[in-house]
Amino acid sequence: MTTQTRSSILMVYTGGTIGMKQDPQDLTLKPFDFSQILEEVPELQKFALRIDSYTFDPLIDSSDVKPAMWQELATLIRDRYDSYDGFVVLHGTDTMAYSASALSFMLENLAKPVVFTGSQLPIGVPRTDGKENLISAVEIASAKDADGHAMVPEVSIFFNSKLLRGNRSTKVSSEDFSAFASPDYPPLAEAGISIRYNTPAIRKPQSWDAPLKIWTSLDTRVSILKIHPGITPHLMRHFLCDPQTRAVIIETYGSGNAPSGQWFLDSVEEASRMGKVVMNVTQCLAGRVNMDLYATGKALKRAGVVSGGDMTTEGALGKLFCLLGRNPDNEWVKARLGDDLMGEISR
Ligand code: ASP
Repeated sequence: MTTQTRSSILMVYTGGTIGMKQDPQDLTLKPFDFSQILEEVPELQKFALRIDSYTFDPLIDSSDVKPAMWQELATLIRDRYDSYDGFVVLHGTDTMAYSASALSFMLENLAKPVVFTGSQLPIGVPRTDGKENLISAVEIASAKDADGHAMVPEVSIFFNSKLLRGNRSTKVSSEDFSAFASPDYPPLAEAGISIRYNTPAIRKPQSWDAPLKIWTSLDTRVSILKIHPGITPHLMRHFLCDPQTRAVIIETYGSGNAPSGQWFLDSVEEASRMGKVVMNVTQCLAGRVNMDLYATGKALKRAGVVSGGDMTTEGALGKLFCLLGRNPDNEWVKARLGDDLMGEISR
């Protein structure tokens, strides 16, 4: 006699709008407990799945996310890895792309799905998007191919019918149900009457059996500077040469351009002399940095700036936190920034 084992999912509830309801006193949204979420989505019981839950304490609005929460999440997934076929993380939308990006670099040899989801309207509200997001996220997290391997063994975000690679995603709307996009990478799956997997776009692990390794040492001495017309030499120096930072992400214009004034380059050169990692990502939603295209880009490259290619800012931040945490040598980090570690950058 063969025993059929049910697939099992661990649902991790961190907070966010999906699990909030209005406090009748002060009318602000406050988190409610996980069992109430499940009561709102009885459809989940129709799946032949074992769904266990883990609730973070305290539950947070995701604007309070800290790297310590990512460390807790990575450790939780590592500790329960063998007991589940997939993980669904309920998370606020505001920093979901940061968390999914960071986790993608923290979980090495991942061979199971880790699907982040949330909603724009609380799950108890009649027009909520939370139910559909949650149900499809669970279905995707438990989906297997003909060989019994996970369909999507990577860190992803499911939102408004689309499954996106976590470290390619960014929040693009505070109001629309379509709150996330990954403009430089196609969706990994789309939910219509069936879930259509974009198999060639999905990352597969090098080995299905390698043990999950987690990188929990994160070095957060990174700052992000968005270039804008009117930026001053003082501000530039302040950001780039602060002795407290090991790395600076500069969000530049278009394909990697910045002001051509000598004062700008001077700050960048000084930061390079101090041994800092300076990385160039574009402010544009889509497209990539090409520092060979214009004179200002070339000058930045000569000054030691590393191209972020088509990485999102969220992806660049997670990658830097993780690489800096792995090695105290900034030259080692610089040499790896352009590598495709977790599908975050196109060649
Ligand atoms: N402020 C909320 C959060 O990020 C918004 C949301 O969940 O969509 O936690």
